[in-house]
Amino acid sequence: MATITEAKIIITSPGRNFVTLKITTSDGVTGLGDATLNGRELAVASYLEDHVLPLLTGRDPDRIEDMWQYLYKGAYWRRGPVTMTAIAAVDTALWDIKGKVAGMPVYDLLGGRARDGALVYGHASGGTVPELLDDVARFRDLGYRAIRAQAAVPGSPGSYGVRHGAVYEPAATSLPEEQLWSTEAYLDFAPDCLAAVRERFGFGFHLLHDVHHRLTPTEAGRLGRRLEDLRLFWMEDPSPAELQESFRQIRQATTTPIAVGEVFNSIWDCQQLITERLIDYIRASVVHAGGITHLRRIFNLAELYQVRTGSHGATDLSPVSLSAAVHLDVTVPNFGIQEYMAHAPVTHEVFHTSYELRDGALHPSPAPGLGVEIDEQAAARFPYEPKYLPVSRRTDGSVHDW
Ligand SMILES: [Mg+2]
Repeated sequence: MATITEAKIIITSPGRNFVTLKITTSDGVTGLGDATLNGRELAVASYLEDHVLPLLTGRDPDRIEDMWQYLYKGAYWRRGPVTMTAIAAVDTALWDIKGKVAGMPVYDLLGGRARDGALVYGHASGGTVPELLDDVARFRDLGYRAIRAQAAVPGSPGSYGVRHGAVYEPAATSLPEEQLWSTEAYLDFAPDCLAAVRERFGFGFHLLHDVHHRLTPTEAGRLGRRLEDLRLFWMEDPSPAELQESFRQIRQATTTPIAVGEVFNSIWDCQQLITERLIDYIRASVVHAGGITHLRRIFNLAELYQVRTGSHGATDLSPVSLSAAVHLDVTVPNFGIQEYMAHAPVTHEVFHTSYELRDGALHPSPAPGLGVEIDEQAAARFPYEPKYLPVSRRTDGSVHDW
């Protein structure tokens, strides 16, 4: 029996911060897991270094489900982003190892592909509506079949999702930037802005929009109703989801499809949303929802209720996570879409990937495991830099949801 002989944490910042777990077995096989929690990176690194790595040496890397249960139930303290990201890193690395040992891509370990590639959506944005339209045109020219559209809201400088420069990276400052937000200005602006996209480009592609948790259920219902004729693929994160039953009110107000879940860590965060069909898409991710093992469980539950998948895929997920997501995406029958923001070119100096974007879809490579390797010498050239996500304040100065 092979055993785990080494496990180490690699913290690197090629373009942005990433925390990566590398596990090595007595047979010399290595596996990678993403442990990146944007803005709270070192908490997960410590959780792994101080409390998980001492438990791994000598254990059987084949027993993935047992390892998951051991780390989840064995901690006594359950759930939460730090714990579940740490468990995800171990879980993902063990799937990578199992694939390499078997000589199979992870999608074959999961039952084989149900589709050739995973449809992705890209992020178009603009400081003005004409700039947004130009950016949508750019994504259309690149072959994207699904596009998220965000524009700066006049009168609300803290608009979400607007790119400055080549890459959108909200965790950009060494202390949190405070941004002003006006719900009233946003609700006046968003329907006309999205209508301009449909007027210019028509309905021959999927259009998505992210509200980023900033509305009450009443406001979200009103927005969804105004967007119905634009036939959005989804309205994302219309309202914070701590109160799952609040989504019933949004659902009853509008037929615009609803997606939520990028901040979820476990199946218990979305059990009611799924089983009562209060959403159309579940956006939980490999890295923050307990790895491939637990995310597959969430997706399987969702399948029973005709809820489709739409995993989070911003650049704060490392290429290891993105690859794991695509391997899972191509196997689940209820796949919907995969978010995709291309990583900065410098990120690929550290992470060597093998997935490919073709015809608006990501295709996993048939290489054994997850098909991602890390260049540790390159990683050492990019030391950790403290970076925070912004904080949102209403125009009266009170803190709002960012
Ligand atoms: Mg989002």
